[in-house]
Amino acid sequence: MNNNLIAGKTKEEWMELFPIMTRIISTKEVFWKSNSYLPFEKAMKEITLKEEDVREAEERLKRFAPYIAKVFPETKELDGIIESPLIRINNMQASLGKIFNQSIDGDLLLKCDNMLPVSGSIKARGGIYEVLKYAEDLLIENNMLSLEDDYSKIESQAFKDFFSTYTVIVGSTGNLGLSIGIISAKLGFNVTVHMSSEAKTWKKKMLQDIGVTVVEHEADYGKAVESGREQEKLDEKSYFVDDENSIDLFLGYAVAAYRMKKQLEELSIVIDEDNPLFVYLPCGVGGGPGGVAFGLKLIFKDHVHCFFAEPTHSPCMLIGLLTGEHDNISVQDFGIDNITIADGLAVGRPSGFVGKILNNLISGCYTVSDNHLYSLLSVIKDSEGISLEPSASAGIYGPGLLMQAENGRKYLEKQGLVNKMNNAIHVAWATGGSMVPKEIMDEDYKNGKKLIKD
Ligand SMILES: *Cc1c(COP(=O)(O)O)cnc(C)c1O
Repeated sequence: MNNNLIAGKTKEEWMELFPIMTRIISTKEVFWKSNSYLPFEKAMKEITLKEEDVREAEERLKRFAPYIAKVFPETKELDGIIESPLIRINNMQASLGKIFNQSIDGDLLLKCDNMLPVSGSIKARGGIYEVLKYAEDLLIENNMLSLEDDYSKIESQAFKDFFSTYTVIVGSTGNLGLSIGIISAKLGFNVTVHMSSEAKTWKKKMLQDIGVTVVEHEADYGKAVESGREQEKLDEKSYFVDDENSIDLFLGYAVAAYRMKKQLEELSIVIDEDNPLFVYLPCGVGGGPGGVAFGLKLIFKDHVHCFFAEPTHSPCMLIGLLTGEHDNISVQDFGIDNITIADGLAVGRPSGFVGKILNNLISGCYTVSDNHLYSLLSVIKDSEGISLEPSASAGIYGPGLLMQAENGRKYLEKQGLVNKMNNAIHVAWATGGSMVPKEIMDEDYKNGKKLIKD
């Protein structure tokens, strides 16, 4: 019987082939450096997506900016561009040094997507972008809009009536549902969000309050996505946002890199051969962190080093990249339960599309225990006054591990970076937080405080 085979091999064979698998399966924290990492130009030869594709997404978001500024007044200050601050977090850097008993060389910054307007998480990038693109395509097809128009006219009732005959569908662990739900409802679409079991009650409630149909599933994220895909087949005038395979989502996320380049310049930070950039990205299915990493590689090429962060109980991108099996395998195949406090990262099977694009561009992955996610959340609150959701604190752990873990040090040696670390720029991507109700945030904070004391 072949029932126990995982992509053609037994668990024991996988462990023999990749010794780090033993630690991954026992849900211990790991730092993995990729053996497939290649110089940028070489890696790009295998990739069909190009810089022009990201530029096109950026232009589309600019076209929609007058509309966004009008319907989401909180974006007025940035003229309808949905963007978050990039800030130095020196106190957190010192605290992280204490946690790891290891100095964190260079400068630590936080990319505050926890403060992104409209939906308070990184999903406000890709999710909103994809719905806007769908809306634009529909309007152009129906001769209701041309690219030169002032898009703020889309706010009028005639457009809402038009969109109300279409349905947008998505499967989500919570935050993507929020982002797709909010923008789709604003435009006037019908929206159905299929929520997986870990989705928080307040996220479902918030959507129901704005008229979104929420379908609750007992099963995990993969099943919720599957149900969305099925629903799309039943209705010709429906559109399914496919978190596992969507190029549009990916490109929407990638635009972040151009925005961050400008922010680094404003902070007078130079990235070059002697001043390396390290970016730590919390990863669920992979679209968000993958898109951002792709954009950053297009800009900074070999001078940026991107690492994905996952919960110890949901290391799906790690096992996908490590084994080269991508979406062919899941954490459940290895007996890992995919149960974590980090709801935004609770994904058991990675996007194959993203894993294959990033295969030669990503420097590595690491995992973080739920207890450490809680304690980081309370430490950054105390040291910087910043409130994050548990998923978002995974990125902050990275600089400590890179400096301390054996594989981290090996990576720095292999890339010739050891002597450049005093000039290093570390950017932890804080992927969400501002939508979390205060009571829940306080509870998470207290949990973290307690764990530090124990
Ligand atoms: C969705 C999400 C991520 C990861 O994005 P993926 O595209 O699923 O990899 C990280 N953090 C938060 C808070 C999220 O909601």
